[in-house]
Amino acid sequence: MTDRVALNVLVIEDDADARANLRDLLELEGHRVELAASAAEALARSDWETLDLVILDRQLPDGRAEQLLPRLHARAPAAAVIIVTGYSDLQGAIAALREGASDYILKPLHFDALRASLLRVAERRALTRAKERSETALRQLLEAAECVILIAREDGELLYISPFGERLTGYELEAVRGRNCVELLGAAGSRQLLVEPFEATARGRPVQGFECPIVCRDGSVRTMLWNARRLPDHEGAPALMMVGQDITGLKLAQERAVQAERLAAIGQMVTGLAHESRNALQRSQACLEMLALKVRDCPGALDLIARLQAAQDHLNHLFEDVRGYAAPVRLIRSTIRVDESWREAWAQLEAMRRTRPGRLIERVEGVDLVCRADAFRLAQVFRNLFENALAAGRPPVTVVVEASEAVLDGQAAVQVVVSDDGPGFDRAIRERLFEPFFTTKTKGTGLGLPIARRIVEAHGGTMEVADRESPGAAFVITLPREAP
Ligand code: ADP
Repeated sequence: MTDRVALNVLVIEDDADARANLRDLLELEGHRVELAASAAEALARSDWETLDLVILDRQLPDGRAEQLLPRLHARAPAAAVIIVTGYSDLQGAIAALREGASDYILKPLHFDALRASLLRVAERRALTRAKERSETALRQLLEAAECVILIAREDGELLYISPFGERLTGYELEAVRGRNCVELLGAAGSRQLLVEPFEATARGRPVQGFECPIVCRDGSVRTMLWNARRLPDHEGAPALMMVGQDITGLKLAQERAVQAERLAAIGQMVTGLAHESRNALQRSQACLEMLALKVRDCPGALDLIARLQAAQDHLNHLFEDVRGYAAPVRLIRSTIRVDESWREAWAQLEAMRRTRPGRLIERVEGVDLVCRADAFRLAQVFRNLFENALAAGRPPVTVVVEASEAVLDGQAAVQVVVSDDGPGFDRAIRERLFEPFFTTKTKGTGLGLPIARRIVEAHGGTMEVADRESPGAAFVITLPREAP
């Protein structure tokens, strides 16, 4: 196989016959041949990188091989050099070998000797090329691999981190080479976990699929799944190679799935509870009304009954909200105008606005507000938003509803921003707004916003808190015009 490797050969020989003979022999073997009659002619060439082999006459008129060799090596470090010499000059050939020549052949040239020498060069060349190819493939693999590859000495000294590892951790190899990788990447409290693969692999046991977090340069923590094995000889000494996959997103998704399952189970239980309690509350309501009749002459007792009634109303409200949240959202769509829904919601709050006055400002000019939606459900969404705005701000509260045309998942949509001039909320509250049962009100259920979002999502839309610094709260609803 190796004798099929075609070499690029430069023959430097002053004897014209010998030069021509060499060319014929080499071309017969399938190699590509260039000729030079002197050292000066050879050194003037510019195509050195393409050369695999130089065949060099030991005694040229303008220089001896051992003088020329260092300059040849400097120009073509990868090329092999074969010296052609006479019997009487073996000492010179040996000197040339010392200067880095690969081989020598004797004059007069014998075809078999030349062939054997070429074969050795071709073999070496093929090996070098195969090594280069596998090194390139390995480097490309390391660069493309979407995993963290670490190589460290058994005492933890970091020798290598793959490009993906550099990007994920924020540490560049040049800056951290030689640091202890357990100290560098181990998360406080779980460093021992990173030590374990070192100890296990040192005992010759590869470690597979163990989970251990790392801390990145910016302080963020990533959960990694590691495989580790011992490299008996990495640059002269044993080392450990660890390959880690970033499973942070996967873990988060798993945790969310477990949480969602748990919430679903709690939701079912609570809905049942709300339903059962409604019956009990109805009985208690009837008793309360009868009792009020019996003690109508006793103002103290009537006052207590009024407080009982208020508590009862609150419980009713809570159970209604829980049922509303847990029940599936069934939409009855028709072609509606969105502004009719928010006006309806504003009208429904008339009683509340008697004690907490507010004004509604609409900015809708030129916007097409028609869409296919459930008008009753949308009014529920706006009622929740308006109720919160009126409750949060100092009366009179100004609520602004601003509409614009938008695109959602490539579909035409209407965007409505509901904002107020109340106190708004800080970052901690903002992150929890849509969490069921999160409330800052003494009599709140914390279900208003989650229900509103569920209704909007059932329409194929989105509902978010506006990402803006201004004081006051702002919510953005984006509704597709048509059912998705
Ligand atoms: P609830 O009204 O029962 O508290 P919500 O889900 O409607 O439940 O609201 C959750 C919380 O979000 C409220 O308790 C309040 O802290 C905050 N919030 C909602 N809307 C506003 C607003 N417009 N201004 C200030 N805070 C608000």
